[in-house]
Amino acid sequence: MRLETLAIHAGGEYDLETGALTPPIHLATTFRHGPAAERIAGYEYQREGNPTNDRLRAAVAALEGAAQAITFASGMAAITTLLETLRPGTRLIIPSDCYAGLRLLAAEYLPERGMQVQRLDMTDLAAVTAACANGIDVIWVETPSNPMMQVSDIAALAALAHTHGALLVADNTFASPVLQQPLALGADIVMHSTTKYFGGHSDVLGGALAFAREDDLYRAVAHRLHITGAVMAPFNAWLTLRGCRSLPARMALHCSNAKALAEFLSAQPQVEAVHYPGLPSHPAYDLAKRQMRDGGGMLSVQIAGGREATLAVAGALKLFTNATSLGGCESLVEHRASVEGAASVTPHNLLRVSVGLEHIDDLVGDFAQALAQA
Ligand code: PLP
Repeated sequence: MRLETLAIHAGGEYDLETGALTPPIHLATTFRHGPAAERIAGYEYQREGNPTNDRLRAAVAALEGAAQAITFASGMAAITTLLETLRPGTRLIIPSDCYAGLRLLAAEYLPERGMQVQRLDMTDLAAVTAACANGIDVIWVETPSNPMMQVSDIAALAALAHTHGALLVADNTFASPVLQQPLALGADIVMHSTTKYFGGHSDVLGGALAFAREDDLYRAVAHRLHITGAVMAPFNAWLTLRGCRSLPARMALHCSNAKALAEFLSAQPQVEAVHYPGLPSHPAYDLAKRQMRDGGGMLSVQIAGGREATLAVAGALKLFTNATSLGGCESLVEHRASVEGAASVTPHNLLRVSVGLEHIDDLVGDFAQALAQA
C-alpha cells in the first residue's frame, strides 16, 4: 500500500463491537483481569498499554516502515526515554545544529549518566568519520535541522554508524514520513515530535520512536516507558491518529507554500539568506532531492541589518503569529535566538518560519508588507 493509503487506514480498523468507523477513545486507566491477574483482552493498566495508543503506534510504524513504534507524552519524553535506556558510558554524537531541547539535555543531564556527548556538524562527513575513529555507540541526526535547515546524508551516516557497530537515530520531525523515511535509508530508529506535523493542528503534545527491528533495545525502551511513565494520554493518541489521516495532504500544501515563500524571500533586498532544502541555492539541494520527496514546510530566513531589523520584521507580520512550535495549519514565525535564550547558538538575524496552509498570496503579501515597513 502507498503511504497516502496507509495514512488513512493504518490503525484504523473499525470498532468490532459497534461498527463505529472512527476509533473509540479508551480512557480507562485499568482493565478487568482474572483473579490471578490473567489478562482478558490483552490490557492491564494504562501506563503499560492502551488500545487507542496501540492504534497510533501501528499507524506510526506503518508510515515509517518500522517493525514497531512506541508513543510518548512529548518528543522530549521520547528522546529522554531512549537515551536513558542506553548504558552509562555510551558515546554519542549529536548535531551542532539541532533542536535546543536535545542540546540542553546533552549539556545538562546526559553527562550525569556517564554519557560522552560530542556536538558535530553532521553535514561534514569527514569530521563525523574522524570523530568515530576511537569508537562510537550512537549517531543522532536531525535532518532537516532546527533551525538552520541543514540537510545531512542519512544513508552515509547509517553506513558509518554500522561500520562501528553503532546506531543511527534520525529525528524526522521536520520532514515527516511523508517526505522522508530514514529507516529505508538505513537508520535504526526514527524519532518524532508528533506535536508538530503528525498532530498538525497545534493542539496535541506527543512523541514517537519507530524501530527498524523488534529487538532488545525496542523491548528495553518499552519497558522503561512503562516503569518511568512518560506515556501519551489516550485522547492525545486519538487526536494524533486523526492527524495521520490528513498528513500527506497537509504536507503537500505545506511544501508548495514554503517553496513559493522561499522563492519570494530570496528575491528581496532586505533578505540576507534563505535556508530551504527545496531551493537550488541550498548547499545540500541535490542530497535533499535524493533523500526527501519535497522541501518541507519549514524555512528560515536571515534578515539584512541584524537583530533589530529582524525583530522589526517579526513584529510587523500580521498573518504569521510570533509563536514557538511548528507544523500546524496556521503560519508561525519565531526569533529562535530569543526563544532559545542565553545558551542559543542561532544567529540573531534569523527567523524560523513554519509555513502553514493559508493561501500563498496572503502569506507572501504579509512578508512583503512586513519587509517594506521594517
Ligand atoms: N525535535 C524537534 C526537531 C523539535 O522541533 C522539537 C520541538 O520543537 C522536539 C524534538 C521536541 O518535541 P516536543 O516539544 O514534542 O517535546
